[in-house]
Amino acid sequence: MRKTSPPEGTPPEGDTNMTARAALERAVQPKPSPSGPKPRKLPIRTCVACRTERPKRDLVRIVRTAEGEVKLDATGRASGRGAYLCPNVECLKTAVKRKALHRALGTEPPPECLAALEVEMAAFKPSLESSGPAQTD
Ligand SMILES: [Zn+2]
Repeated sequence: MRKTSPPEGTPPEGDTNMTARAALERAVQPKPSPSGPKPRKLPIRTCVACRTERPKRDLVRIVRTAEGEVKLDATGRASGRGAYLCPNVECLKTAVKRKALHRALGTEPPPECLAALEVEMAAFKPSLESSGPAQTD
């Protein structure tokens, strides 16, 4: 019987180290803790018009209510199917034109709701969390 000797230059410790490290890595793998502290990452949503990913609070939520109304959800907590848009009229228009809003909400937004949305969107001021004093002219 011929034995294949390990090639020189490969110290056996190297192999042991690798195995130990692999075992360690396996043991140290992070586990999702359902009751852990709050996740530090902000929830990210995608604008249905331009597909930009932004923190949820930087986007405007459009909600379809149980009554079939489509409206701007300023609280972000209204119940119903929602779609996220950048807080600008351009994205709203794009979403309508591409039927992205249509798809995201699973309904065709009524024209009168879209008109109202446009007005609300134009007036919408994202709640900027800058701590500086309000600027005055
Ligand atoms: Zn957008």
